[in-house]
Amino acid sequence: MLEQRLFVNARFHTLWAPEPQVQAVLTRGERIVAVGSREELSAHSIGGTETIDLDGATVIPGLTDAHIHTANLAREMAALDLRGTASLEEALERVRVYSDDLPAGSWVFGGRWDFNAWAVPVQPNRQALDAVTGSRPAALPSIDGHTVWANSAALAAVGIFSSTPHPVGGEIVRDTHGEPTGILRESAGGKLVDIMHSAEAGDLGAQLLEAQKRLLAVGLTGVHDFDGEDALASYLGMRESGQLEIRVHKAIPMTALDRAIDEGRATGDGDAWLRTGPVKLFSDGALGSHSCHMNAPFPGEGGNTGIEVIPYEDLRELVRRAAGAGIGVATHAIGDRANELVLDAYADLARNPLDPPPSMLRTATKLRHRIEHAQHLRPKDIARIAQLGVIPSMQPTHCTTDIPLASTLLASRNLASYAWRSLLDAGAVPAFGSDAPVEHPDPMYGIHAAVTRQNSNHEPDGGWQPGECVTLIEAIEAFTAGAAFASGEEAHKGRLRPGMLADFTALAADPFTATTSDLRDIAVQSTTVGGVVRYRRDH
Ligand SMILES: [Zn+2]
Repeated sequence: MLEQRLFVNARFHTLWAPEPQVQAVLTRGERIVAVGSREELSAHSIGGTETIDLDGATVIPGLTDAHIHTANLAREMAALDLRGTASLEEALERVRVYSDDLPAGSWVFGGRWDFNAWAVPVQPNRQALDAVTGSRPAALPSIDGHTVWANSAALAAVGIFSSTPHPVGGEIVRDTHGEPTGILRESAGGKLVDIMHSAEAGDLGAQLLEAQKRLLAVGLTGVHDFDGEDALASYLGMRESGQLEIRVHKAIPMTALDRAIDEGRATGDGDAWLRTGPVKLFSDGALGSHSCHMNAPFPGEGGNTGIEVIPYEDLRELVRRAAGAGIGVATHAIGDRANELVLDAYADLARNPLDPPPSMLRTATKLRHRIEHAQHLRPKDIARIAQLGVIPSMQPTHCTTDIPLASTLLASRNLASYAWRSLLDAGAVPAFGSDAPVEHPDPMYGIHAAVTRQNSNHEPDGGWQPGECVTLIEAIEAFTAGAAFASGEEAHKGRLRPGMLADFTALAADPFTATTSDLRDIAVQSTTVGGVVRYRRDH
């Protein structure tokens, strides 16, 4: 017999039109069976119903992060953190202290350095790193993860020397003598990233259990995870041992696409806890690393228009191959040219039907292809996203972090940047996330950024390009119903109504009556997934 629980003493914003606000929710097993007043629901309750007091909280549907790297987050919680450093010297001092404490022979991992935020904004080099790490190998990704700063020992460990050619889709930056500087862009850092993501970095299963606690504590009930097959293995283990407490829509890395097809995996397979997500493709780099693929060159960079990570013809074939196997496609695209090409590839698929036709496939008819980030768009591509039914999977805090960068690098271009309002108005269904650990995983930060387009210091006044602000309900919907739509789970998640999964986030204050500048600071009081309270804040 399934356990029945009556959640009371709260104000529930259901995001369900017939009953937008209720005082109580009755659950049976993992699902909601009724919403209404405490008196009404008590009448429905059977003997043995447990009453759960939510301490006067304001409850919204469970928040889902539609783009997060949980394994990277988990590893970083255990690694060196260079975020917030104000200069190269400060960063190096942190590396030295961290490195001195490590056992002999272990790598220095972590990083998330941001040279754009340093007093003298120059790319660092391997010699500076050698001076504080000695012979110990060090590989430190930049804040956006698209550049790796390596020391000499790390370069030697993966065989990068002056004679090593640039790999496809990457760059080994060299000094005037042709020697690698230690800065590796995009695919050039791939071998080091592989080591970073191997057992060298510790026990991922144990690290993910810690990360899961943190995600529940910021009010997340689900994630769309974009990390590797090692994370999938850990999540399978957690589900098996009854330790999985957050719902995971698990993307397939591009390198595992063939294996996934051979194994017959298709998007939407699995259960309500762990499901197969889309395959993640990359079409370009990032703005901060000046490697996003643009139609016009970056100012003063000798015609640099960024990096086309997968040539268009290959991208088109990969999209067809994945969709043909019932696997949705989620393509990373930041620059306007990258977004244009991804839409071309999706449009090509829509125009030229698959053989065999999608009706022969298990799930292909329900596939919703996505663009991850969709940051800088030609204005005419807004309507294409909506018409093609492509999901813009966007991260509001990227916008507010990028304001200084976008205002200078992309000034006076005719672009729709972080264009949430325009996309909604065109009829697209955005899904919001954090891209943690690139940004903080707290969805209230994302909701605040989406509503205000201001950073954590409430700047700029009035918000950056405020015409693209969304309303509070639209922001919450993109983290709930929008994320559920993106994963094809809109019948089960995203609203609090009978029949849906009993996933909800209880907040210490009502965001609908708070001033927008306070949204960031609203604490999570408890997090319920599948009718079970998985996190409760200490009083
Ligand atoms: Zn990402």
